[in-house]
Amino acid sequence: MVQGPLVRAARPPGRHRAEARNARRPRWLGLVVMALLVVALPVWWWQARPFDSRLGLGADAPPAGIGAAQAPLGAPPATPGGRGGYTFMRMQADGTEPVAYDPCRPIHFTTSTVGLPEGGDALVHEAVATMSEASGLRFVDDGLTDEPPTPDRDPYQPDRYGDRWAPVYISFATPDQIPRLAGGTIGLGGSTPRAADDGVLVYVSGSVWLDRDAMTALLRAGRHDSARAVVEHEIGHVIGLNHVSDGSQLMSESGGAVDGPADGDRRGLAILGRGGCRPDL
Ligand SMILES: [Zn+2]
Repeated sequence: MVQGPLVRAARPPGRHRAEARNARRPRWLGLVVMALLVVALPVWWWQARPFDSRLGLGADAPPAGIGAAQAPLGAPPATPGGRGGYTFMRMQADGTEPVAYDPCRPIHFTTSTVGLPEGGDALVHEAVATMSEASGLRFVDDGLTDEPPTPDRDPYQPDRYGDRWAPVYISFATPDQIPRLAGGTIGLGGSTPRAADDGVLVYVSGSVWLDRDAMTALLRAGRHDSARAVVEHEIGHVIGLNHVSDGSQLMSESGGAVDGPADGDRRGLAILGRGGCRPDL
């Protein structure tokens, strides 16, 4: 700041304009060089990163092991007696184990303000608490989001959620927003897996879409248990349970069970809560 005026004052009079023209070119060249650096540096930086930090996931993944502890954060309770069954949404390639979340890190979740009915947030909290207890998986509430419901949600949204897997997304949506809600479907749920370098699939994020109008009607009619059961059922899908034909189970395809997870549901959830820890994802 001190040198600027001194240099200008030392310029011979009459050369000021020519110098300014000459000075313009280096400034212009400087901008080009800076632009090249901005483009080239991240590419170089990414290529220079250790290979194992990406694990073949491509660029659409956060650094591995975000928020991962060395041991499971919780454990499922002892499984009850009874003859209820369970099925899983997805099995590993060898068919022996279900695809599950990493129990060594919390499952973050966020609830959308878009279409959120009165009492909807509390309903979600109740359902999450029940399914967390039954599976032993730890859930962490990231609060509300204004992310709108879309059918093809990206499990990695660093601009919105930072450099980590996007939290599980829970929303009260319309068939216009989520076409699969059309035709009387009151809820949808599921999770997205990613493969570790040994090929083992691990869920990294998920979504629950609840039919806004049907859920609002249940809440307004005082059918709180039914509304909560719908959310629990969809979170069951997120954790990794699929449907059963037994109408006494929460995961019954036809719905109807309103007392939370039953014996078969609990056995399935206990298995899903004992997945392997994967700090490499
Ligand atoms: Zn279902």
